[in-house]
Amino acid sequence: MFMNRMKLSAVLAATLIAVSLIPVTASAQAPRSPVAPRRELVESVVREAYDKFKGETSGKNADYIPYLAQVDSKLFGVAIVTADNQVFTLGDVNYSFSIQSISKVFTLALAMEELGPDKVFQRIGSEPTGRPFNSVAAVVDMPTHTGNPLVNAGAVATTSLISGKDANERWGRILAFYSKAAGETLTLIEDVYASEAATNAGNKALSMLLAKYERIYADPFESVDIYTKQCSVGVNASQLARMGATLANNGMNPASREQVIKREHIPYILATMTMAGLYDSSGYWAWHVGLPAKSGVGGGIVAVVPGKGAIAVFAPPLDEAGNSVKAQKVIQFVANKLDFNLYSPASVGLK
Ligand code: GLU
Repeated sequence: MFMNRMKLSAVLAATLIAVSLIPVTASAQAPRSPVAPRRELVESVVREAYDKFKGETSGKNADYIPYLAQVDSKLFGVAIVTADNQVFTLGDVNYSFSIQSISKVFTLALAMEELGPDKVFQRIGSEPTGRPFNSVAAVVDMPTHTGNPLVNAGAVATTSLISGKDANERWGRILAFYSKAAGETLTLIEDVYASEAATNAGNKALSMLLAKYERIYADPFESVDIYTKQCSVGVNASQLARMGATLANNGMNPASREQVIKREHIPYILATMTMAGLYDSSGYWAWHVGLPAKSGVGGGIVAVVPGKGAIAVFAPPLDEAGNSVKAQKVIQFVANKLDFNLYSPASVGLK
């Protein structure tokens, strides 16, 4: 009995020593990303996608904003940032392009921080328009008039919700919020802003129409101007991926560890992205890629893999719907190879 106890305590002591010699992993710092153990796989899949699609020449730069027509169509960058802040990049990931419509996601997030999701839902809504992103007809026909925060009318109305004593303060608040999501100070690309401000009569018309229906919540022209600035914010693919990773990581920026967006708002943001993130191709995207994403006419797309990370791709030529051709292909390829599709047979338990 005594001997047994002696043996037992020796075994226990040996076990304790062995356990304490095991190197402490980063588990306490929550490496929740299942991407982490598959680093080589992620790298090889991203490289395969990059090589496979870099020669793709279909699509055309947006030209209704003159600046965008002149951007080098060959630029091509891919960045992944995981929820535990691992970074994978390839290609032109330091080129700063205009965020355009992807900004709408983050202004929506800020509006929810300020007002809560219920008020935002009430004042903007969340219905697909079934029409182009800048449709006047949608404003007239839809019962909400604003549609959802990711089409132009709904986005300008969402911008008009942001608090501030004047336009400067409201703009400053938006830019600071985007910067927190990126974990870096972002700035306006002045030339994009000038180019878009000179050609945004359509957005001004949408804004005035919303005023008629009392669905804009600040001065309509001032709101369009702030919206135009938010679309002209410069991001590179890595910064955009980190903004996406902040969404993937339940609102906490994985690099700065700052809780930028309340956790409980994330589902509403991702739901809105799924429903309207890729213009009139959002349905196709949900079927074939199955990830909340948002594209912009500047050529960027960011897709969020909840709990795991985000992938951002920048390549200016767009398809008819306004989505970057290469970015869609790369993200679809990577999502399928790495089983990121939230609705894939494996994800829903069929395999
Ligand atoms: N600033 C652009 C516009 O208002 C954004 C469009 C987009 O990226 O979808 O037309």
